[in-house]
Amino acid sequence: MQPKSVKDLSVKGKRVFVRADYNVPLNEALEITDDLRIQASLPTIQYLLDNGAAVILASHLGRPKGERIPQMSLAPVAKRLSELLKRPVQFANDCIGSEVEQMAKALKPGQVLLLENLRYHNGETKNDPDFSAALAKLADVYVNDAFGTAHRAHSSNVGITKFFVKEATGAGFLLMKEMAFLVHAIEKPVRPFTVIMGGAKISGKIDLIKSLAEKADHILIGGGMAFTFLAAPPLEQDVGGSMVEADKLDLATEIMSFCADRKVDLVLPSDCVAAETISNDAAVKNLPIRSLSGELKGLDIGSQTLKTFESIIRDSKTILWNGPMGVFEFKPFENGTRRIAEILAEVTQSGATTIVGGGDSAAALAQFGLTDQVTHVSTGGGAALELLSGIKLPAFEALKGE
Ligand code: AMP
Repeated sequence: MQPKSVKDLSVKGKRVFVRADYNVPLNEALEITDDLRIQASLPTIQYLLDNGAAVILASHLGRPKGERIPQMSLAPVAKRLSELLKRPVQFANDCIGSEVEQMAKALKPGQVLLLENLRYHNGETKNDPDFSAALAKLADVYVNDAFGTAHRAHSSNVGITKFFVKEATGAGFLLMKEMAFLVHAIEKPVRPFTVIMGGAKISGKIDLIKSLAEKADHILIGGGMAFTFLAAPPLEQDVGGSMVEADKLDLATEIMSFCADRKVDLVLPSDCVAAETISNDAAVKNLPIRSLSGELKGLDIGSQTLKTFESIIRDSKTILWNGPMGVFEFKPFENGTRRIAEILAEVTQSGATTIVGGGDSAAALAQFGLTDQVTHVSTGGGAALELLSGIKLPAFEALKGE
């Protein structure tokens, strides 16, 4: 059973509680530095407003742990939302209580109210039934569109659903879209299906690699994690001062044989951009992996590796990317990550489905101005990883009302 989509709900003249994900980055002046998540919430809100509903939006921001921390207020989000929706967005000073209830009750179709940070109350993360009930009191219909927190069972995305009848709960367009790309597109991918993995560590990504190895034709490994594979038996290469997780060598060996058994083509870097220090003025060399020794660290994939990766990517029909190819936050080591982003943008133009799994790879795409040039960029790092690892998301399951 799939959850209902927002389109299947009767919303005319109703107050609709929308759990959105407005956990956006703010700078010291409390300005929003990346509004991807706010933009991504617009289709659901606009649909509800166009169909005669009043919309009550709720989200968390940061980890205030039950305290009213002013730097984690959602007030800047209300302002940005109002600009994007081109209509006023009322802002409530809290998310539960009589004052908020009155504001909610007074809403007319076409009006929007954003509640203050849900995590100013501990009840939210504890999935406390009283807190869930207090939230549910505000509306007639419940819609969850917060993919970024869907891997957590909290009041606003799990507990609250018990207080609405099944006919009045559903998934927003963003949640449906994330599920479509991260589950359905990968369950039965148009082949060849290539997974590009990077980032610092294998830790935390073991289930992910194994789950994807069940489905992929090629797995290309870059980033710091590649060196743990290169150092592990049977390869046992000297990788100099590169990042190696000594306690994960056995696991790397296991993953390599797991892929070999399944005839999955696991490709490791043959060369790298090496330096002794990680800095913007580091002296760098493009070296074969076998030339690494001493303090020299591999900090990006090299030109030969890029060529190999590029030709596999160009021959693929579905590509999933998770994790940077190097220390892309520093100029001398950004090229591998930048080129992968550019190549993905190009193959998307030629008809491939390209999916970027949130977190650092999404940050890299934004850094290179390519966010809107791939098929789908996930808005949830942790949720995307769990979903791709084959774990069910409690918030999505709760919407099924089984
Ligand atoms: P993760 O959180 O595991 O996805 O790792 C992301 C981080 O990995 C980024 O901040 C990159 O700077 C870092 N990273 C990527 N490649 C390397 C590398 N070769 N050595 C050390 N760190 C790396």
